[in-house]
Amino acid sequence: MITKAKGTNDIFGLEGKKIRYVERVFENIMHKYNAEYIKTPIFESSELFHRGVGETTDIVSKETYDFKDRGNRSITLRPEGTAGIVRSFIENKMYVDNNLSKLWYFGPMFRYERPQAGRYREFYQAGIEIIGSNSPMADVEAISIMVDFFKQLGLKGIKVNINSLGDFESRSIYLDALKKHFKSDINNMCLDCQTRYEKNPLRILDCKVDHNRDIMKNAPKLIDYLNEFSKQHFDEVIINLNELNIDYVINEKLVRGLDYYTHTVFEIEASIKGFGSQNVLGGGGRYDNLIQNLSGPDTPAVGFALGIERLILALDYEKCEFNIKEGIDAYIFGIGNLGINKSLFIAKKLRDNNYSCEIDMFNKNIKANFKQADKYKAAYVIIIGEDEIKNDYLTIKNNRTKDEYHIESSQIIAFFKDTKKEIQND
Ligand code: AMP
Repeated sequence: MITKAKGTNDIFGLEGKKIRYVERVFENIMHKYNAEYIKTPIFESSELFHRGVGETTDIVSKETYDFKDRGNRSITLRPEGTAGIVRSFIENKMYVDNNLSKLWYFGPMFRYERPQAGRYREFYQAGIEIIGSNSPMADVEAISIMVDFFKQLGLKGIKVNINSLGDFESRSIYLDALKKHFKSDINNMCLDCQTRYEKNPLRILDCKVDHNRDIMKNAPKLIDYLNEFSKQHFDEVIINLNELNIDYVINEKLVRGLDYYTHTVFEIEASIKGFGSQNVLGGGGRYDNLIQNLSGPDTPAVGFALGIERLILALDYEKCEFNIKEGIDAYIFGIGNLGINKSLFIAKKLRDNNYSCEIDMFNKNIKANFKQADKYKAAYVIIIGEDEIKNDYLTIKNNRTKDEYHIESSQIIAFFKDTKKEIQND
């Protein structure tokens, strides 16, 4: 037997319904915020992610699926959504007639990580990019969309962490201070931190190995190094979050894993007791330099991405209800060749009128057919036997009350219109 690749999932049955429901809720929220759907390719040229996400990030240095195609091009399966959308924004010159582009997506991402609960090699992300505004209002909107989404799904145990990485100038001064602080002790720190010290010192603050050491606890705080402009931006974000009554915690250690962030960064974590270690449900931030770095016009932007599998785990854990449509309007079975043929005809009529139904394709006996109707959670069972064929009528059973009706075949749609409350598709 050929089995699925490590770290991937088949999504079907109830899980399939859950993911479709979550996507529907996300799409409705996106509509409220006037965002447009975008689908970019699952694979892009490797250079996009190397330049966009950053060579020194964990994602690019350790986790990408890279391969050469048959034309010897370097290709990468997308590990995140932002770089592809920014590429598309530039390539399609979306900046020409829009002063604000709001683009949302929902789709699979690929990272070569060690699989565990809530962490896979193929996983789904939903996200939005708000491109074109440097206003703190855009940062606040991104955070508020995320919070709205979780609220709409009924998830209560969430914690919003925010921080500011400042602009390029503030960050450069801070990085110098950070390196100075760690210089004397860096050889005693973990190997990853030693590499980070050279390549991306900000990420030292993310370290899970040394995080309890004094040298970590006493590290200079980015927030103390913000210049006037950066400070004002962050203050306005805070003021507006307060205005909107959005609960948050300022987490000075939050730096996020990707290179492209500037100013506001944020993460939403599930703060549900016993939920497990993969508790960051989503995150994002402002990335004012990315579009220019990818050879586009100087354009500010902010966005977020959240992990759908982790979100569903959290919803399950909190026993949130999924609004999932179950059942069909009718299950139809015919007896004898003529009955079976007619069941096809009746099914078509129902489907043409937007009713959902299924027909018996196995020529089962009556008992087995009623069992099947229950399995499908059918509201009605339509029986087409020999007498029904001879006298051109249908026997219809309400599968809940067991009431039985005999109606002329031509009246089938009228019958379903009259009995609206029992059926699913009204
Ligand atoms: P990131 O792009 O790393 O900020 O990730 C955003 C969100 O995507 C995370 O908060 C997770 O919910 C989800 N995520 C990231 N990596 C994985 C993974 N390997 N498996 C499942 N979900 C993931």
